[in-house]
Amino acid sequence: MQQADVLHVLKSILSRPTAPFHEYAVRDAIRELLSECSHVTVTEDAFGNLVARYARGGAGNGRATWAFGSHMDHPGWVRSVEGASEPPAAETHRRHGGFTFLGGVPAEYFASPVLRVFGDFAMWDLVDFEARDDGTIHSRACDDLVGCAAIVTMLRALERSGTEAECCGIFTRAEEVGFVGAVELARRWPLSEGTIFVSVETSVAVGSAVPGWGPMCRVGDRLSIFDHAATSALLSVAARRGLPVQRALLDRGSCEASALQAYGIRTAGISVALGNYHNCGPDFRIAEESVHLADVEALVALLAAVVEDLPNGPDDSGSGLRERFEARVARHSPYIAATTKHFGDPPSPV
Ligand SMILES: [Zn+2]
Repeated sequence: MQQADVLHVLKSILSRPTAPFHEYAVRDAIRELLSECSHVTVTEDAFGNLVARYARGGAGNGRATWAFGSHMDHPGWVRSVEGASEPPAAETHRRHGGFTFLGGVPAEYFASPVLRVFGDFAMWDLVDFEARDDGTIHSRACDDLVGCAAIVTMLRALERSGTEAECCGIFTRAEEVGFVGAVELARRWPLSEGTIFVSVETSVAVGSAVPGWGPMCRVGDRLSIFDHAATSALLSVAARRGLPVQRALLDRGSCEASALQAYGIRTAGISVALGNYHNCGPDFRIAEESVHLADVEALVALLAAVVEDLPNGPDDSGSGLRERFEARVARHSPYIAATTKHFGDPPSPV
């Protein structure tokens, strides 16, 4: 059931076209998929970011502790706008047929662009969604539509299971040009002060993280380290539930958690390993991005478990670390007693 819904939601969202500032088709898919959830209320802020609030029972007291956020855009071609800053001379490769490319892709990939046009924007002409027998999903835009799909599936799962809790899904615009939607969100933060924003992303696996071995709990990114108690909460829920998760500093890029943290909002991050980041395939060829379906399923299960197990947020007393350290000191008290004579007296004068 869960896997079928993950696939259904992935296909529904990933097959919609998107680009920075042109996220309306993805927004509509998210709204449609959540319209089946009677306990989810979807609102839109002045900038067009979506806030989907799940509330059932009295658990949340009108305050969502967890807000899971993803962005609805992907690097792409937008119709050139008069007055917008033109790419500098060294970046003229970012202009093609009346469109300007927005997002981080190295110049080597622009040798002979093939575009698919959707009115005022265009994407690389690639497959929109393909689920392969080897358990991988391939798409022109996994980043970050997979994150959007994971959050939507999680909200649908809470609805189906009748979970009494409160949490939010946040879907932002224009992340790929520098967190524009996240900044607009932070300026008019619509949730309570103690809410924790968990960035749900796709990212290049770094260090010992392996694609297919579970989502990566992102302790930080290139710009920031995230909230310790919130990060520990994600890891401890995964351990308790037996869900696969990898702890990693994903510092090859940055995510919206850094932007929101800069505005004083507590943040954490979780990512699914991404292949062909920003459509950059081998030999400087543009290609579909990819993720492992099992990682997405584990991510959905973990997000739902966090809401179910810790509806009121993380344990801010230090996640039990202090007790562990105290116990270790107590265990070594005989050694302390046996050596105090060497340390107890003040040093003798020279
Ligand atoms: Zn990206």
